[in-house]
Amino acid sequence: RVIDAAPASPNEEAIERALRPKQLDEYVGQAKIRDQLEIFISAARKRREALDHTLLFGPPGLGKTTLAHIIAREMGVNLRQTSGPVLERPGDLAALLTNLEPNDVLFIDEIHRLSPVVEEILYPALEDYQIDIMIGEGPAARSVKLDLQPFTLVGATTRAGMLTNPLRDRFGIVARLEFYNVDELTKIVSRSAALLEAPINEEGAREVAKRARGTPRIANRLLRRVRDYAEVKGNGEITKDMADRALKMLDVDTVGFDVMDRKLLEAVLFKFAGGPVGIGNLAAAIGEAADTIEDVLEPYLIQQGYLQRTPRGRIATPLAYQHFGVTAPRISPT
Ligand code: ADP
Repeated sequence: RVIDAAPASPNEEAIERALRPKQLDEYVGQAKIRDQLEIFISAARKRREALDHTLLFGPPGLGKTTLAHIIAREMGVNLRQTSGPVLERPGDLAALLTNLEPNDVLFIDEIHRLSPVVEEILYPALEDYQIDIMIGEGPAARSVKLDLQPFTLVGATTRAGMLTNPLRDRFGIVARLEFYNVDELTKIVSRSAALLEAPINEEGAREVAKRARGTPRIANRLLRRVRDYAEVKGNGEITKDMADRALKMLDVDTVGFDVMDRKLLEAVLFKFAGGPVGIGNLAAAIGEAADTIEDVLEPYLIQQGYLQRTPRGRIATPLAYQHFGVTAPRISPT
């Protein structure tokens, strides 16, 4: 995919790091979460305690990693970063935990993918800042309790529903990140353009913002492609017209749907007669993993009102028919 919400190459990750806001007041949007964190962080700092464990959830690219870094910075502590699938054995997590300094932030991305044995040792760590580890093997094996420094776990996940209940219950702060509106994304695009030293006007920034699927990562990615286009096809200035032409070339349509979004909607509309269609059938029809559909593709389509999730499967809304220029069948009242 040209425009995916997941971070791609190491090179891109470096650019993302450079564009990342460093402080809470630079973090655009998510006003409710920002207000809450400001209070909780300031209270924890006053008491010289670790911030409560914090769970951030929402689709990829909405700023979970960024927020984790900001939390550590505002708390004035270090951040250690890892991810669910990387922590294979309990020892991997124990090594990280025992190296934390007081009130540090441990950031675990994709926390829903922790293995059960690793998750098990996390519970006492979160509750009592203690871990039980096994030393030795066979009859000589014994369990040893280790005390940890107080710390804050910041967990990120694309779907809160995939966490086990005991894990979810141990987070004192739970924040759901929302898609960004066009004004917020326009701000993000303008800010990023300034950092990249790319000349852009307000309409140019707004055009990129409108077509970024409510997602800062996509906005920044589109901005870089549009900048390339403007440098080659124009004098480098990113105007509305320049942005529009570049985005057309990238197959991003006027409402910001890319090739995969359209493929999904077209499948529901034309292969499954508007639905309802189950996630498995839909995945097979478009050749995409069911998880990707649920985590990456459909949240935005649902939020924008093109798709609905019902107990019997996904259905296309009248807006979806309209977008593809076809008439919706009359639905008889039941
Ligand atoms: P996630 O961890 O949710 O996948 P990231 O935190 O990695 O997302 O964010 C992806 C990119 O989007 C980062 O480069 C960051 O610069 C940008 N970004 C995310 N949220 C914001 C925001 N609220 N304000 C400004 N830029 C943001």
